[in-house]
This record gives sequence, C-alpha cells and structure tokens, in this order.
Amino acid sequence: MDELDRVMHYLAKLPGLGPRSARRAVLHLLRKRETLMHPLADALGAAAEAVRDCSVCGNLDASDPCHICKDESRDGSVICVVEDVGDVWALERAGAFKGRYHVLGGLLSALDGVGPDDLNLDGLISRSGAPEVKEVILAMDATVDGQTTAHYISDRLAGLDISITRLARGVPVGGELDFLDDGTLTQALKARRAL
Ligand code: ZN
Repeated sequence: MDELDRVMHYLAKLPGLGPRSARRAVLHLLRKRETLMHPLADALGAAAEAVRDCSVCGNLDASDPCHICKDESRDGSVICVVEDVGDVWALERAGAFKGRYHVLGGLLSALDGVGPDDLNLDGLISRSGAPEVKEVILAMDATVDGQTTAHYISDRLAGLDISITRLARGVPVGGELDFLDDGTLTQALKARRAL
C-alpha cells in the first residue's frame, strides 16, 4: 500500500466513516496540509503516547489518576458507574454531576460472552467500600445488557452501607408523548412525581 492508501485504509475503519467518507476526508486533509494534516498527525501521535486508563476510575486521561479523580472539589461520596468513557464525556458535557465516576469498560452480555472478569468491577467493589462513599449510581443503558449489569453490581454491593440508585427514566426534555415508545411511557407513568 502506498501512503495515500494506508491513510484511507485506517480512516475507513473509524466509526461513522466508510471508504467514501474516508476518501473525502483524505482529500480535505491534503488540501489543508499545513493547517490541518500536520497538526492532526502531531495531535494523534501525542495522544497515542500520553493518554492512559485512569487506575482509579478507568477514565481516559493524560494523567493517572485522571483530572476528575484528582479534583478535590468534586464530591467523593457519590460514584456514578457507566459503561464507557463516552458516557463520562456525555455526563460532563451536561455538567449536572459533580461526584466521581467508575468506567466498567463494557456490559455483561451472555450473547457476546462478556463475563464479570472482563469488566473493571473489582476496583468498583473496593472503592464502594471506602468510608466516604454514601451512594453508587448505576447509570447503565436501559437495555437488557445494561439492566443485567446493574442487577449484578447491586447484588455485589448488597452488603455495604450505601444507597444504590439508578437513573430515572421517562419523558425526554422537549419530547412529545405521542412519539414515545410504550416502555418509556410506562416507565414515565410509574415514576411520576407530585407537582
Ligand atoms: Zn479517574
């Protein structure tokens, strides 16, 4: 493979990019060689060298522990458990959570052969037993695997003196009732609150 084919070959492996968009991306990069292609290549190289899994929470960061684990202003009494780093980014973008995270690195799945040993679970169990921890939020997807994983974790944490919570489900902000699936509508009705 020549240089051009190699770039296209690897770009086409990115999520959301097929061969066609990879070709367009390469053309764009070559036209912006100085302002985009070289800086991007440098940034990719630097990130590949520097970014590691946080040994505490499993987040990706250039420092270990990560900047969230090191941030003393965050609430150490709450741990929010998520499937992967993308979920941490989503919650941080929303800016509504000021506790700590724990990244599992996947979900239990009988179908895909993912068992407890494949997930970052031991760290969670020991962190949850620390005296300052009062609550563990299980923020998994509302899918079969997500709920199986949440049940498994709540069983493992059962002996500890902490509250185990999960995210509320219901009508999305800006959502119209007419467009909701039956499961969401049923959950929203069950979880109704006094005004
Ligand atoms: Zn961390």
